[in-house]
Amino acid sequence: MIEGLPVLDSHIHLDPMGSNRHAVRRFRDCGGTHLIVVHKPYHHINIHGIGDYISSFETTVGMCEMAGKEGVKSWCVVGPYPGELPMLARTLGFEAAVDLQDKAVDAAINMVRENKALGIGEVGRVHFKVEDRVQEACDDLLHHIFREARGLDCPVVLHTESYHSNPELMRHLARMIDKAGFSRKRVVKHYSGPDLIEPKDNLGISISLQCRKVTLRQLLGSDQVHLLETDFIDDLDRPNVVMPPETVPKKVQWAYGQGLLDHERHARLMIEQPRSVLNIETDE
Ligand SMILES: [Zn+2]
Repeated sequence: MIEGLPVLDSHIHLDPMGSNRHAVRRFRDCGGTHLIVVHKPYHHINIHGIGDYISSFETTVGMCEMAGKEGVKSWCVVGPYPGELPMLARTLGFEAAVDLQDKAVDAAINMVRENKALGIGEVGRVHFKVEDRVQEACDDLLHHIFREARGLDCPVVLHTESYHSNPELMRHLARMIDKAGFSRKRVVKHYSGPDLIEPKDNLGISISLQCRKVTLRQLLGSDQVHLLETDFIDDLDRPNVVMPPETVPKKVQWAYGQGLLDHERHARLMIEQPRSVLNIETDE
């Protein structure tokens, strides 16, 4: 631990065909202590039906357990990746693809109910250009997710287009969350940058910030606290994308060195914020 306090990466992927165990060790050996392992589409599992989704979610649960055995307390979130929908629509037809992702949402919810997963993620909207009906189907799935998450009181990790490509995005999401009667705080917009640090911009939706120096500087210069992530995708063909697994502990250390961070702020970032957004205890 750095200075006796926990260090959580709130968005990492681990892949059985990637460096998985080695990536966890790199994180741990730099002072990382806790992980949110986020489901990703695995290249070695082709999705044709709900059974494939379930086994791919189980794979994420297995990666999370592996990290735990490496001494890094971990939780996972599972759910159908939105970027997969256009591809499924090409092979299965649009209606069948939407129906399959809807069943996958139910499967993910069951896994939360069974305590195999902490929450639902990463789910949301497609980040590249698609037909309107695809984003509309994504919104319908999201509404289903927010309603169920409200009943389960579990967090939802969102993958969406960027705030730059859709300036209406946060208002749109906030409206959907409110309509489902869910809590904005329990929804995490991942892959966020400095432009969403202030509540006037994130509208009370939680954000997980890419752990870059410039972003950290901006965050620690404000009075806000947010989750920090790498979004490491664990793909051997693209090593260290989006950021290497040791980034969060290294940048926390760097922030101390720069005089940007002290114990009190560290505890707010790494204990209080994970507790209030994700309902997890990182100081145990
Ligand atoms: Zn991700």
